[in-house]
Amino acid sequence: MRIWPERVFALKVDIDTREGLNNGVPSLLDDFSALGLRASFFMSWGPDNSGRALLKLFTSPRFFLKMLRTRATRTYGWRTAVSGVLLPARMIGSARPDIVREIISQGSEVELHAWDHRLWQDTLSRRSKEWIADWFNRAISAHANATHNRPQAFAAPAWMIDAIALEEVSRRGFRYLSCTRAVEPFLLAPTGLPEIPGNIPCTEEVGGMEEVAAAARAAGGGVLTLHAEVEGGPWKVQMREKLLLPLMNEGYKFVTTGEMAARIGKTGLKERRHEMRLLRGRSEPCAV
Ligand SMILES: [Zn+2]
Repeated sequence: MRIWPERVFALKVDIDTREGLNNGVPSLLDDFSALGLRASFFMSWGPDNSGRALLKLFTSPRFFLKMLRTRATRTYGWRTAVSGVLLPARMIGSARPDIVREIISQGSEVELHAWDHRLWQDTLSRRSKEWIADWFNRAISAHANATHNRPQAFAAPAWMIDAIALEEVSRRGFRYLSCTRAVEPFLLAPTGLPEIPGNIPCTEEVGGMEEVAAAARAAGGGVLTLHAEVEGGPWKVQMREKLLLPLMNEGYKFVTTGEMAARIGKTGLKERRHEMRLLRGRSEPCAV
């Protein structure tokens, strides 16, 4: 059954790196404000350990191929590629409350993506309940310091979740989640919360912005996931020319994920558990 409102997309921007926050977010804010759009920015608040991905090049052939295909260092820059491995990890959201305030003052939303994005996606399956609780404590307190509010939503790093993490999520007072790549919204068991999934593939998964736009048209509505260092960096012009402007001209509306969650509500959503599945263009399984 179709649940997404017709011809409406929520703009979800994931901030995974310090580079994405410093340079990608201001660039996206400029673009959105020129087009009269607002978005939801899902923040990584703690250390940028993206350099840990370098270590994975030696242990995961699939990951190595993905990095080659997406020319990762050109997108992310060398400072990001070595952050937390050869050079000390820089803090992300908690070090730039000025950018956080700028997002909010433009009418966009700031929600919770991570404390340490890289550690979550590399090590979640072997983490204890205590480690996960501490990860959320740090992230939520950094969020509260910068925004003077509690986060309303959580979007799991790399769409990676498990039973222990979801138990912790249930206790944190979120209003909705965006933790999966499912096709339609549902209630994510055992949290009972509305899951507003990222149903449209990302640029780096399908190879270009025209492919993202085609997937968006085929779906007719849902959540468009952008990455601050990708669409706010080398893909900036393509995002505007090949994705946002064409869809706007075709009559699609853009909202924040908070507005999308409010429109969808809870009634009519079926409750179910997630499963993990390897999607096209990704190196690790995602929740669906
Ligand atoms: Zn992310």
